[in-house]
Amino acid sequence: MTTFKSLGLNTELLKAVEKLGFETPTEVQDKVIPILLEQNTDLVALAQTGTGKTAAFGFPMLQRIDAKQRTTQGLILAPTRELCLQITNEMGIYGQALKNINIVAIYGGANIQEQANKIRRGAQIVVATPGRLKDMIGRRLVDISAIQYCVLDEADEMLNMGFYEDIKDILTHTPKSKNSWLFSATMPPEVNTIAKKFMKKPIEITVGTKNSSAKNIDHQYFIVAARERYNALRAVVSMNTDLFGVVFCRTKIETQKVAEKLIQDGYKAAAIHGDLSQNQRDIVMQSFRKKRIQLLIATDVAARGIDVDDLTHVINYQLPDEIETYTHRSGRTGRAGKLGTSIIFVTKSDRRKIKLIENKLQTKLTELEMPSPEEVLTSKVIHWTDQVKNIPIKSDLHNHLPLAIKALEDISKETLIEMMLSKEFKNFDLHPKAIEFSRDDRSDRSSDRRSDRKINAPQDKDRFFINVGARDQYEWTTLKDFLRSFLKLGPDDVFQVEVMKNFSFFSTHKDHRDHVLKSFDNLIMDDRKVSVELTKKGKTFSPKKNFKKKKFK
Ligand code: AMP
Repeated sequence: MTTFKSLGLNTELLKAVEKLGFETPTEVQDKVIPILLEQNTDLVALAQTGTGKTAAFGFPMLQRIDAKQRTTQGLILAPTRELCLQITNEMGIYGQALKNINIVAIYGGANIQEQANKIRRGAQIVVATPGRLKDMIGRRLVDISAIQYCVLDEADEMLNMGFYEDIKDILTHTPKSKNSWLFSATMPPEVNTIAKKFMKKPIEITVGTKNSSAKNIDHQYFIVAARERYNALRAVVSMNTDLFGVVFCRTKIETQKVAEKLIQDGYKAAAIHGDLSQNQRDIVMQSFRKKRIQLLIATDVAARGIDVDDLTHVINYQLPDEIETYTHRSGRTGRAGKLGTSIIFVTKSDRRKIKLIENKLQTKLTELEMPSPEEVLTSKVIHWTDQVKNIPIKSDLHNHLPLAIKALEDISKETLIEMMLSKEFKNFDLHPKAIEFSRDDRSDRSSDRRSDRKINAPQDKDRFFINVGARDQYEWTTLKDFLRSFLKLGPDDVFQVEVMKNFSFFSTHKDHRDHVLKSFDNLIMDDRKVSVELTKKGKTFSPKKNFKKKKFK
């Protein structure tokens, strides 16, 4: 059997392994660590999140770094602030027995000078998000010209978020002699391009099957009318009393709405999205980790850094646009050898997406029937009675028992139980209508169908160009939210949002054309005039040219 020792880790790192309680290397560690320790090579590793990939590149990097030198020798690029902090934290733990190793995280949304000061004190390893790193390189606050190791973590996600240009730019500041180690859950063509363009004969490692989801995840879906989504979610949560999971929504507003409804219905839920401050996020995450919160309602971006291993369920309140994103979502459960369930609520009109997922994952997804209202109630009552049977008796109440018994002596056991049940379910609407699921096609007149109509009818939609993009810290979900709230449009009225580095595109129904164009007339953001233009139909739109024309100053 392989051990961390036999992989070639030094005593200091083995101490960390022991302290962490890692018994055997995971598959990716087993395959990657010996290569990175022994060879000066580039490497591309296809591995899902939760497979132990941080240690797979972290251990070799820590072992190879020269702690006596203060120069930056290792660079790790990650898509989000959360992931960046998570990697820094893990690396800190792995390297705690090593002397004088300094690992610094740099990411947007925090004080740049403080980060620069930390770098100035000497950081052998820098963990960074691409936007902030590029900014700091430009201001000469960080020097990566002598790095020997460069990790691109979650490369597919970084490219999804529009960081291609930033990454390309960052790499031009690194020496040719470095070794690049790229980790990605999937291998879309963009990642392939990076590997081809910027890496030298990389060794390829695949953990599990390429592009397939982890085997220990049970993928299930329910067909529901869009307006019944929430009731369906509530039914699933009611039926799975030990559920501890993340519910994925597409927008911040949706996460908040769902969380509020769940809380109202008596569940321990909280929303996590980009509008929360770092401090608020930390508080939510801490409560979740400690299981004071049972359900975390998240957008994809906010969920990137969720490092909770024992999620029983991942719930897709809505399906993401990209199937890759579904892989990321579901990969958050079924970790560390445990079984996990990924649940999808899908409307009839979106059913074809299930096929696409099945093809991509090469796994059959199981269609489940929604439980009847009767079944939901029965399950809740059984759970409640189980809980009651296990309530520990508080001995110091013993003396007060006769008083309570006397006061309640006229009430029969049945009535008493009925009263307790009523108290327990006071927030839960027991009326069958409230938990009934319409499986009738005609009831599916909701926003989902509207948005589909738009997407399927290009003549009805307008496509706009806007001169804000990834460099303004937008990605498609946040830009969509911004546009929706700025334009005061409904949840599905802004769609097909595509974010590039310096500009973006979005679509609306053509009824909104004048409103959209007028709304941006005088909008100044960060000293720049925001301009929105209709793209020209039938012609290839040349954003570069237009952007130049529109550039402010
Ligand atoms: P990662 O894929 O790097 O995000 O790791 C997922 C989780 O697995 C982290 O919480 C790690 O601490 C944990 N982990 C990494 N390697 C091992 C191992 N060999 N045995 C047990 N847990 C591990």
